Amino acid sequence: MNILIAGSGGADGIPSFFSDSEVSRYAREHGGKDVRSRAAAIVDSAIKIDFGPDTYAQCSNLGLKASDWKHVLFTHSHFDHYAPGLFQYAFPPFTEENSTTPIIWGNQAILSGFSNAFEDQDKLEKRLLKSFAPVHIDGYFVTPIRAYHKLDEDSLNLIIEKDGKSLLYAVDTGVYQEETWEFLAGRRFDVAVIECADGFLPADYWGHLSCEELVPVVERLRNIGCLDGASIVCTTHHAHTGMATHAQLEERLNPDGIEVGFDGKLINF
Ligand SMILES: [Zn+2]
Ligand SMILES: [Zn+2]
Repeated sequence: MNILIAGSGGADGIPSFFSDSEVSRYAREHGGKDVRSRAAAIVDSAIKIDFGPDTYAQCSNLGLKASDWKHVLFTHSHFDHYAPGLFQYAFPPFTEENSTTPIIWGNQAILSGFSNAFEDQDKLEKRLLKSFAPVHIDGYFVTPIRAYHKLDEDSLNLIIEKDGKSLLYAVDTGVYQEETWEFLAGRRFDVAVIECADGFLPADYWGHLSCEELVPVVERLRNIGCLDGASIVCTTHHAHTGMATHAQLEERLNPDGIEVGFDGKLINF
């Protein structure tokens, strides 16, 4: 399996859409790994995780074609992860008459949110994802787990398994509540991609992780058998408000065995 981190940024990206924060300024000046588009990932070039406002730019920057994604799995309906209106371009006159469209998977808020998004939306096949209820998707075994993030909907993190390999995609979430920890106990992941939105600056909002919170979360995942010496742990969804450049994040997190994600990072496992 592999996972491509298509976008590694927070809600307003880095450099921030409107802000002139220090990290945004650094990114405008230096480019490279410090420029982060809104969070998204692709598994084995076939399964797209989240489909936010930067999807078009990610396709053109990374040489991707959205029609290669047979399934789009949504984690939750925050705008930076969820731009349902973009799917209008999967239909004629924007595409050929016989082109295929992806199957949309998400919680009830995701599925309902399509209703007024564009005229042809009812032609999209949509399927409900529920936390702790596994589904088979085209040879993959997908288990959504409950995130601690947007509490007025079933916010999901995703376990994706195939051929004995296992991935945890943990975006967005704060520190899991006990029901999720209990569900995770004893499962093992080859790769865990985990958000670290708040970087060096823990925020009052409990629905994201800072470095200070991420390190004990990873430690607990190791202690309950989810991660071992061979597992790869990689961050994503970094916000400019976390006040950390890519290099600073690496300096802080690498000693704890945590890699720092960036737009275009590919992890093979
Ligand atoms: Zn969110
Ligand atoms: Zn977020």
